[in-house]
Amino acid sequence: MIESRCGILCSGCGFQESMGCKGCTNIEKPFWGESCPVKSCCEEKSHTHCGQCPEFPCQTLYQFAYDPQQGDNGARIEQCRKWKAEG
Ligand code: SF4
Ligand code: SF4
Repeated sequence: MIESRCGILCSGCGFQESMGCKGCTNIEKPFWGESCPVKSCCEEKSHTHCGQCPEFPCQTLYQFAYDPQQGDNGARIEQCRKWKAEG
């Protein structure tokens, strides 16, 4: 089950409760800004998640995934790989 474009597992995210966020694939735009570059890019290319993209993992996704503050040390990239392997 795909939970986001970038590979974040929204089901394990505290913002679902604290901010009323319905999760990446169910929202038009994120609560934290006008748009998310990864979400916008992925949806514009009509991919379900970034793992389906020929450019995966692109620079933008990589920077998000390895950001010292907001990143997850690449966990979301691995999650995209898993989703891709699951078909
Ligand atoms: S960072 Fe962007 S693509 Fe990733 S879950 Fe949040 S809104 Fe979706
Ligand atoms: S991997 Fe990068 S280029 Fe491909 S859809 Fe995701 S954000 Fe866009």
